[in-house]
Amino acid sequence: MPGRRIIVVGAGPVGTVAALACARFGHDVTLLEAEERIDESPRASTTQPPTLEILAELGLIDDYIAQGLVARTFQFWDRPRLRLIAEFDFERLRGETAYPFVVQTEQHKLALMGIARLRAMANATVRMANRVTGLEQDTDGVTVQTEQGTLRADHVIGCDGGRSTVRKSLGIEFEGFTWPERFLVITTKFDFARALGCCYRNYMAGPEEWTNLFKVAGDDLQGRWRAVYNTREDESDEEALSDAAVRARLGRIYVPEAERDYLHLNLYNVHQRVAKRFRSGRVFLCGDAAHVNNPIGGLGLNSGIHEAWDLAQVLSQPGADLDAYERRRRPLNIEYVQEQTIANKRRLEERDTATRERHFDELRRTADDPAKHKAFLMRASLLEGVRRLRS
Ligand SMILES: Cc1cc2nc3c(=O)[nH]c(=O)nc-3n(C[C@H](O)[C@H](O)[C@H](O)COP(=O)(O)OP(=O)(O)OC[C@H]3O[C@@H](n4cnc5c(N)ncnc54)[C@H](O)[C@@H]3O)c2cc1C
Repeated sequence: MPGRRIIVVGAGPVGTVAALACARFGHDVTLLEAEERIDESPRASTTQPPTLEILAELGLIDDYIAQGLVARTFQFWDRPRLRLIAEFDFERLRGETAYPFVVQTEQHKLALMGIARLRAMANATVRMANRVTGLEQDTDGVTVQTEQGTLRADHVIGCDGGRSTVRKSLGIEFEGFTWPERFLVITTKFDFARALGCCYRNYMAGPEEWTNLFKVAGDDLQGRWRAVYNTREDESDEEALSDAAVRARLGRIYVPEAERDYLHLNLYNVHQRVAKRFRSGRVFLCGDAAHVNNPIGGLGLNSGIHEAWDLAQVLSQPGADLDAYERRRRPLNIEYVQEQTIANKRRLEERDTATRERHFDELRRTADDPAKHKAFLMRASLLEGVRRLRS
């Protein structure tokens, strides 16, 4: 019911959407963020059609598109032979969604946009540099401990990322596994679309090493590219981040020697994990606090935003069944996000030549058949799961 006191922990993209949605539904919202500033390092940017629908409901869509790049298509490539295998076009989803495209807007821009809106609302408070250290529940509410003191709320939404203090305080297991290799993101100004003829989102399979290439707008809106690679399992962080190894990796995606300068490097561990529960009493988990996955396909953050929106509605309906949130969201994450991202990774890294060619043939056949093309996009964009919930 509107008018509840809600504390949202974590001002990442999911926490700010949860806080903004709850505030717009009339709750009294406090958003607590551990850091003084929003993390601006390169992370997620791919925003799928159903997520754009939510951003439209929240009144953010125009700013969001203005600060990003619209990507209507994505492509699969055979990296060693520089062969385009198949292209998928979101225009095929026209009629299914008002946004038949993906928008590439860096996630810190969404967090900053959400915080600016919250600061203008009388029923919302944003507290930066306010780390939550633990919480306790009783029959009347939740007491949240922060480094600055304690706060009371009717409900808490834990959006505090993969290492969530909220999840750990509740003793909820984070089931799954961590991949042995890490992912390296090289940010560069090299113009891959001009050089290779690719689009703004490209998945390039390779038996030894694969690469995903994305264009983002950058804070200056001048455009830059992110090239994502797997590391070797036995490669040390020092080696992966060394100038020589980075330049060699750029060389392997056809960047001429004189143009192998880069702006930023990001090396991170990749996990597939889902919290055993998304709710414990008055406390809920959303986003990376509830699940983490490899970023291939751009699904993790999108599903987190869908959860934030879903939960804000559940908390705003008089007499709503609060367990419905977990009953809906947990299986959906396993079926659509975990399964798909694992399959996407396997497809990119396949080593067996015959199996690789079979995957490529399947992709070509899917792209060439209008019904299969659309069905593939419905699933890849998460629209299928979202529509299934509504039916
Ligand atoms: C290094 C890295 C690289 C990534 N790269 C990609 C990518 O290339 N593509 C892709 O699709 N996805 C990527 N991801 C995943 C994507 O960034 C996440 O899915 C997304 O950030 C989830 O948003 P969130 O709001 O749930 O969590 P987060 O963005 O992690 O936000 C959590 C927030 O909570 C705050 N917080 C943490 N603990 C506390 C506390 N105790 N009290 C208060 N605040 C707290 C944090 O400071 C942070 O602001 C990457 C993730 C990481 C970690």
